[in-house]
Amino acid sequence: MLRSWAETDVGRVRANNEDAYWLGGGEDWYLALVADGMGGHRAGEVASRVAVEVIGRVVEAANPGGKDGAACQELLVQAIAQANREVNRLARSRPAFAGMGTTLSALLVHGQEAELAHVGDSRVYRLRDGKLELLTEDHSLVQELVNQGSLTPEEARFHPHRNILTRALGTEPRLKVDIRHEGVRPGDVFLLCTDGLTGVVTDAELEGVLNAAPRSRAAAELVQLANSRGGRDNVTVVLLEAGREA
Ligand code: CA
Repeated sequence: MLRSWAETDVGRVRANNEDAYWLGGGEDWYLALVADGMGGHRAGEVASRVAVEVIGRVVEAANPGGKDGAACQELLVQAIAQANREVNRLARSRPAFAGMGTTLSALLVHGQEAELAHVGDSRVYRLRDGKLELLTEDHSLVQELVNQGSLTPEEARFHPHRNILTRALGTEPRLKVDIRHEGVRPGDVFLLCTDGLTGVVTDAELEGVLNAAPRSRAAAELVQLANSRGGRDNVTVVLLEAGREA
């Protein structure tokens, strides 16, 4: 059994919340999605909302309960491709939407397994036995510089160009998605979040809050922490906990 908590907040500076999340599930499966839209004239709000709604609807209609890992991965890839086509079509449909896109992080839990799919710089972490591990790699210019050894991860976190993405959903007709399989153990906690959180809160601080706060309050505490650092960006936090009972 899974429990989930979600918080999204506009922050303290911006007029709109361009983040979106989606949670849903059925017998023996659960899907969590987080998206961080970009584009002017509220287009980012449209991109992130359309992306999570299309993916959620496609996965729900296919009912992944009982499917194996390969089939669940294929379903996620198909659903994200469909969302990409839809956001890209909208982006080309009117000038106000030109160039819009969104990050997308997806976690599909089925039985004791999970499939992750991801594009952009929203992130998925897992807390297991008190230790936090990042399961996704940002598709961003600064991450490429980190991979080349030109920046340290801490320099990247506060870099002025950290918002430049190398991949986003909706900006091109075709999209390459990172996909990853993970086992799920009782007590595992998955954190999906946008860069409004990870741009101002370190991984060590995330781990500290997740270990210290009551699970039902952790998502709200993380949002408060991001806002206490200026709240310059929208912030979204989704937590999923795998039950300790079998
Ligand atoms: Ca953001």
